[in-house]
Amino acid sequence: MSNTSYNPYEIAQQQFDTVASKLGLDAATCDFLRQPMREYHFTIPVKMDDGTTKVFKGFRVQHNDARGPAKGGIRFHPNETIDTIRALSLWMTWKCSVVDIPLGGAKGGIICDPRVLSEREQERVCRGYVRQLVRNVGPNQDVPAPDVMTSGKHMLWMLDEYETITGGRYPGFITGKPVGMGGSLGRTEATGFGVVYVLREALKELNIPVDTTSASFQGFGNVAQYAVRLYQQLGGKVVAISCWDNTDKTAYTFRNSDGLDVDKLVAITDAYGTIDKEQAKALGYEILPGDAWIEQDVDILIPAAMENQITIENVNKISKQVKVIAEAANGPTTPDADKVITERDIFLIPDFLSNAGGVTCSYFEQVQCNQNYYWEKDEVLEKLDTKMTAAFKAVYELSKNENLRMRDAAYVIAIKRVADTVKKRGWI
Ligand code: NAD
Repeated sequence: MSNTSYNPYEIAQQQFDTVASKLGLDAATCDFLRQPMREYHFTIPVKMDDGTTKVFKGFRVQHNDARGPAKGGIRFHPNETIDTIRALSLWMTWKCSVVDIPLGGAKGGIICDPRVLSEREQERVCRGYVRQLVRNVGPNQDVPAPDVMTSGKHMLWMLDEYETITGGRYPGFITGKPVGMGGSLGRTEATGFGVVYVLREALKELNIPVDTTSASFQGFGNVAQYAVRLYQQLGGKVVAISCWDNTDKTAYTFRNSDGLDVDKLVAITDAYGTIDKEQAKALGYEILPGDAWIEQDVDILIPAAMENQITIENVNKISKQVKVIAEAANGPTTPDADKVITERDIFLIPDFLSNAGGVTCSYFEQVQCNQNYYWEKDEVLEKLDTKMTAAFKAVYELSKNENLRMRDAAYVIAIKRVADTVKKRGWI
């Protein structure tokens, strides 16, 4: 996931260091906040369907739990690295802090490829992961959630294993559960919708009517699919989408300059966000190379796939027409590319603000689980919109008043809140 030239953990630490020095944080607080508080590395032996045993590697990293139980997704990926997980755990802390929810930051991962594992094998991987971590996670310690290539079914297996071992019912142990089994209505939509709530606010501030805009996306998984839906409902036009093709081991961009039909495209997309090329061709889509999504003459770019996707190699391919980049993925922009984006005066909504809708709704899920009372979908989405809009406005105001980039303003708010709590708790 991280390639050799861009280590996401180093990027996350550089971003922290820049803001920490602006804030004048003391050396001990910097040292404490620029690295995770705890890390767990372990092996997961799994009995495979063919009778052999395979050993998978798992991680859980808890960056900071000063403001509340740690919170963060679990990713399944064959190229997962500990440094990616570390970076994501830092970003989770800042994400929960910037939207002001009482949670800390964590992240987990298993080096595996669920696309080549059977359902039963995936279940055993999930149960094995929980068995290794059961003492170190829980509703009051660290609350996992789905992330890349994991979903509600994985969360339910993990919950079941946790409850079997601990002998109780703890639906607040994990979020992203299926609706009706402790999940919250609106969670599936939350991250993608959250991206569009902050995008809508950004366009208002920039005086750009959303229904005059067009966009190009990277990724067509959970986040992108719902972001596309809401953006189109607001009147925007999506002209291109790129996604990974695991058979060809490359990405493709699907373009339709009249705007894409999200329902038809979802119908030919698999559970991992891969669009079927032949069927897309039959629907009239142009099939272009994977990187073409970034070169489109559109107003808005939304990277919603993986980290390190807008780099110094492709940043100059961004069209002059682009006015806004909403980072839906975690860490999609490398620092050198970020500099170019700032110089070009493109308004960038940083990842840990744009994609905070998922964790905000996970927090709502936990609240509902703890009350054993579940809200209607409209209520969830309304509360989500309120939180995301308030967070955007606070970051935007600070960026205007202090002449800061949106990313730095978001960091200032997030880091300040965590540093204050750490101090008030007497940890430093
Ligand atoms: P997903 O697995 O559902 O979808 C990922 C999509 O990216 C797929 O369409 C895949 O084909 C595509 N992709 C992967 N590599 C690509 C490449 N090189 N070029 C083009 N497309 C590529 O994942 P998701 O849940 O939609 O998450 C997407 C991003 O958003 C990740 O960075 C994730 O960490 C972040 N995120 C997700 C959530 C959430 O609630 N799901 C919350 C916050 C942040």
